[in-house]
Amino acid sequence: MNYRAHLAAGTVSFFVVLFLAVRYGDIGFFLAVLSYSVCMFFSLFPDVDTRRSKIHRLLLHVSIVLTGISLLLGFGAVPSVFMILWLVAITKLKHRGFLHSFTAAVSLPSVVGLISYYTFGTFLPAVFGFAGYFSHLLLDGKA
Ligand SMILES: [Zn+2]
Repeated sequence: MNYRAHLAAGTVSFFVVLFLAVRYGDIGFFLAVLSYSVCMFFSLFPDVDTRRSKIHRLLLHVSIVLTGISLLLGFGAVPSVFMILWLVAITKLKHRGFLHSFTAAVSLPSVVGLISYYTFGTFLPAVFGFAGYFSHLLLDGKA
């Protein structure tokens, strides 16, 4: 599947979870926007293990720009260089391997959920992240 199909499926999964979140809880505009961003990110993220994917190229470009900005401002480039090395290393993984598994779909959004919980007091963005991730696995026939 191409990235547009994954974004479309991610959007559908976002609205399904949003419907449930609004029905059974309270979700404000900021949390909805944050959750949509997390959902879209994770609807593309499983393909980060291939250099031809949009998400891989996007993260690589962001890392390069952040490295340049960090160097210009004198902050050093260790974090963004680390991200570039991580992106190179992750292409050594088998495409549609671990990152296209249910374990990854649960564990990786959970990291975002923990950050969200300690920052905003809610784990909800992780649920949206899981929905986006799972929509990717469904489209790829891995769920
Ligand atoms: Zn995929």
